[in-house]
Amino acid sequence: MIIEIDRLSEKELKISKKFDFLSTDLVDENVVFRKPVHADISIKRIQDEIFIKGRITTQLSFICGRCLSPYEIPVDSKFDLVYFPEELEDLGDQLEEEDLNRLFYMSPVIDLLDVVLEQVNLTFPVKPLCSKECRGLCPVCGKIEKDGECQCVTHDPDSRLNKLKIFLRDKR
Ligand SMILES: [Zn+2]
Ligand SMILES: [Zn+2]
Repeated sequence: MIIEIDRLSEKELKISKKFDFLSTDLVDENVVFRKPVHADISIKRIQDEIFIKGRITTQLSFICGRCLSPYEIPVDSKFDLVYFPEELEDLGDQLEEEDLNRLFYMSPVIDLLDVVLEQVNLTFPVKPLCSKECRGLCPVCGKIEKDGECQCVTHDPDSRLNKLKIFLRDKR
């Protein structure tokens, strides 16, 4: 959905829209959309600065980094962005570090599709886990330990070793 910057004004333009992305649009190939993205967005322009605020909701499926099982989580994320004209990009170095929401526009349009997709990608956890307690796969038989099925001898005598293995794996 293309927004023409020239047509924006100080009066907020409000958009409530469903976006049907493909899972292949996401930066992580293991992440899959379970629902379309719904976005409520408001856009306004004050002189050359474009202010885009919004909220996105969707449902994503991740692969747990420990047990490799898929799991789903709802996404409900707000964002607050400011776009400056590209000419100001040289000032980039002088902008304070914490001003990460400052962006630059080069063309006379902003594609909301890109803005929303970027925000979805930003919600991904650094290390997806189906639960904080997930113990991952049994190092002997490869079964998911939370299923409690396997009786491998390493479990009880060596649970400290297991913890160490999980610790080392997580550090990678
Ligand atoms: Zn897991
Ligand atoms: Zn086992």
